[in-house]
Amino acid sequence: MPAQPERPEHRDVIIVGAGLSGIGAACHLREHCPDKTFTIVEGRDAIGGTWDLFRYPGIRSDSDMYTLGYSFKPWKEQKAIADGPSILAYVRETSRERGIDAAVRFGHRVERASWSTEEGRWTVEVALASGDVTRLTCSFLLVCAGYYDYAQGYTPDLPGIERFTGRVVHPQLWTDDIAYAGKRVVVIGSGATAVTLVPELAKDAAHVVMLQRSPTYVVSLPAQDAIANWLRERLSPGLAYDLVRWKNVLRSMAFFEFARRRPELAKKRLVELVRQHLGAGYEVEKHFTPRYNPWDQRICLVPDGDLFDAIRSGKASVVTDQIDTFTERGVRLRSGAELEADLIVTATGLKLKFLGGMELSVDGQRIEPSRTMNYKGVMFSDVPNLAGIFGYTNASWTLKADLTSEYVCRLIRHMTATGTARCTPRRSDPTLQEEPFIDFSSGYVQRGLSHFPKQGSKRPWRLHQNYALDILTLRYGAVDDGTMEFR
Ligand SMILES: Cc1cc2nc3c(=O)[nH]c(=O)nc-3n(C[C@H](O)[C@H](O)[C@H](O)COP(=O)(O)OP(=O)(O)OC[C@H]3O[C@@H](n4cnc5c(N)ncnc54)[C@H](O)[C@@H]3O)c2cc1C
Repeated sequence: MPAQPERPEHRDVIIVGAGLSGIGAACHLREHCPDKTFTIVEGRDAIGGTWDLFRYPGIRSDSDMYTLGYSFKPWKEQKAIADGPSILAYVRETSRERGIDAAVRFGHRVERASWSTEEGRWTVEVALASGDVTRLTCSFLLVCAGYYDYAQGYTPDLPGIERFTGRVVHPQLWTDDIAYAGKRVVVIGSGATAVTLVPELAKDAAHVVMLQRSPTYVVSLPAQDAIANWLRERLSPGLAYDLVRWKNVLRSMAFFEFARRRPELAKKRLVELVRQHLGAGYEVEKHFTPRYNPWDQRICLVPDGDLFDAIRSGKASVVTDQIDTFTERGVRLRSGAELEADLIVTATGLKLKFLGGMELSVDGQRIEPSRTMNYKGVMFSDVPNLAGIFGYTNASWTLKADLTSEYVCRLIRHMTATGTARCTPRRSDPTLQEEPFIDFSSGYVQRGLSHFPKQGSKRPWRLHQNYALDILTLRYGAVDDGTMEFR
């Protein structure tokens, strides 16, 4: 370990993570708190997070870029459902244009952070790529570390997989040398990654099977937003962007509300739309009619019905069954059927990870995240001067990320104006009930939820998953609201 300076370098704010959220947060800070110093510490050696990590064929957004883009930087490409490299270029361009690049320290993985009330600051312990450890201090810690484990995805128990003689890959670990042209591919899974991969692999593979235990709701949307492209030709980019953003926000909020209030009707409509794509002879009940209600899990989006086209063309097919065992040549199913394969892709999901796996302590006491309660979707009960960015589960991540950054800037400005150094959400209402952080039934959510904070049964501890309500709370609501303690 190199000799540590007497006092570690200090910043007003340390941002953890240089993904979409971390770069966005830095832009907000620069604009709204220009007198505050900040540094971004990033564990990897690149900007972009998710959009740099995932390299599987066809990687793309599954929400539109008018809402996945930042509020302050119009998305100007023709395609609303964008490919991964375009999203990465957009995040990097934002960082470059606003001079954020220079504030990023790469190869800096935060392992723990400890708050000292006496010193009024966080000490952040950082593992360097070299293996050394260094420390930085800050007055406010803003964690933009995403929500999943970067080291590996989730792979369930795959009985007999060691017998399979072909290649097995998890999409999170996809590399360029994985050949699939002319090969028989089985993609295990039915989530956003599986429905993205299947049509893309089907372009060159001999055949692709999407093997799912149970179906997911899949909805097709045009890759290009005709209204957006029309408006952009007639209005300034900023105005066109704002209008389309609101159009899409309202559309998705309306559908979410409809699905929650009238689940049977929403289910019928979604399944009907699939039938229109695949034709009356296709077994839509078996392969595209989930047992759960719409929005009990995230709905998968396919641009221009590409998945349905691949199925109709015969290049791809869906099998709904359970794995009995893997064999030398592929997968044997519970039904007795066998799928032969040269390549198996385990699109079986992510492993959730809270605050990038950082260990937290306050005045020497270790903080167990699951014992804390999330305040306004931003901070945590009894943890001072620390915010985390988490996007929506039912809408684009960035809508909430932008609002969270705006709120953190308001909070910091409020503390400067009132001469206070510490803000801590305190849980004083004895009638407050604990509820899960995310109310999704998806496997990856249920597996990881026990390590996440709780949400509360009422404001300001309740997560609304509603952009309009969050605007009222985070952009206009009082910062000093009686629950946040300032010292
Ligand atoms: C394949 C895929 C597709 C997606 N598509 C969409 C979509 O279409 N729409 C949508 O709304 N959401 C989507 N999401 C969710 C997506 O993760 C967010 O949209 C967004 O990219 C999150 O940005 P982020 O910066 O918060 O987190 P990330 O992109 O995960 O970036 C986090 C960064 O923090 C760094 N980091 C983590 N821990 C530490 C640590 N301890 N120390 C230092 N650095 C650390 C990481 O290295 C990374 O660079 C998708 C997710 C995946 C996996």
